[in-house]
Amino acid sequence: MDKKHNLGTVCVQGGWQPGNGEARVLPIFQSTTFKYSSSEQMAKLFDLEESGYFYTRLANPTNDAVAAKIARLEGGVGAILTSSGQAANFYAVFNLCEAGDHFVCSSAIYGGTFNLFGVTMKRMGIECTFISPTASEEEIAAAFRPNTKLLFGETISNPSLDVLDIEKFARVAHEHGVPLIVDNTFATPINCRPFEWGADIVTHSTTKYMDGHATSVGGAIVDSGNFDWEAHAEKFPGLTTPDESYHGLTYTKAFGKNAFITKATAQLMRDLGSIPSPHNSFLLNLGLESLHLRVPRHCENALKVAQWLEKHPKVGWVNYPGLESNKYHELAKKLMPDGTCGVISFGLKGTRQEATEFMDRLKFIAIVTHVADARTCVLHPASHTHRQLSDEQLREAGVPADLVRLSVGIEDSADIIADLQQALS
Ligand SMILES: *Cc1c(COP(=O)(O)O)cnc(C)c1O
Repeated sequence: MDKKHNLGTVCVQGGWQPGNGEARVLPIFQSTTFKYSSSEQMAKLFDLEESGYFYTRLANPTNDAVAAKIARLEGGVGAILTSSGQAANFYAVFNLCEAGDHFVCSSAIYGGTFNLFGVTMKRMGIECTFISPTASEEEIAAAFRPNTKLLFGETISNPSLDVLDIEKFARVAHEHGVPLIVDNTFATPINCRPFEWGADIVTHSTTKYMDGHATSVGGAIVDSGNFDWEAHAEKFPGLTTPDESYHGLTYTKAFGKNAFITKATAQLMRDLGSIPSPHNSFLLNLGLESLHLRVPRHCENALKVAQWLEKHPKVGWVNYPGLESNKYHELAKKLMPDGTCGVISFGLKGTRQEATEFMDRLKFIAIVTHVADARTCVLHPASHTHRQLSDEQLREAGVPADLVRLSVGIEDSADIIADLQQALS
């Protein structure tokens, strides 16, 4: 593929580049292993002296083709796929931090990531300080320590829909000699490419819009290749000093701009093994082929629904960064001029019970624990994911009892609004 091709062309044709007489469509290399006839060649692969396939936990042609497409979409130098978004965020952080290290993170992030960073990684000796998504540069800087290794945030947070000021976060990270990692799941590279605003590493839960059809859990990590690890060598010994498990190879010296992503594969994937099945990567690739068509439709529908909800007398409030009334509207317009995402949160005037009744009356809008796929769906955290909490505790968790999360799909917007209308009346 040509370097100058636009995103829509990369969505359809990026990644798999068939040679003469080869399958036009990305094949599923459903094989754990790959054949060699010389033992010397195999030895070179093990020493990372030559590139090639030998075992699917380390690399697989189907997975690699899809990772290459995602790297192109984000404008990065390399990417790897993981078995879930959780694994992607864990690897991205663990590739830079070890026991005794610290990192700083916006508190407006996905609940699963919040628990991974605040509880599980703490058990591994890695500490995380959470800061407000609207913290000033001084407030962000105040959370840094001598052992801080990175800064983390989500472009548009799930489910609170806070928009990250990527330029500001990148500036503070770089002033402290560390990279900014951005989870770009909700915006997707169609709406925002965080590297253009200074982020160094991007992660995804491909489970959401990238797959887009709710078929496969998956994740991705993309490296911009822009962060100069050698310039801050003392902070990142894992990248800048010899890896004994690879006969003393130093990632920055051997792989240059690909040091980060090569270490994530060669070391973390080798030892921890959260790879996607090649079959799931094939399905993810089919989703990516229409990402540039689906994302604008999600945004167009969500804006219409959000504007309609805002005017409805039974609706107390609507949170959607695409609305002019939203506190992030200006920032969203700058980072995402073509639209934000398809997820809206809103509150009904009335009780928790009435919110439940509203949802039960919906017809084709289904109640599911998922967001960001083709079918419109709804979730009431107070009755589902957070049902053990009192109204008071819900407020403290930033999930008020009346909050309804609506993931607007790509059906006809008039039908989505009609379904909401009949349930509200
Ligand atoms: C869903 C989600 C995750 C976790 O991804 P899984 O694929 O469910 O493991 C991480 N970050 C964000 C922003 C998400 O929405």
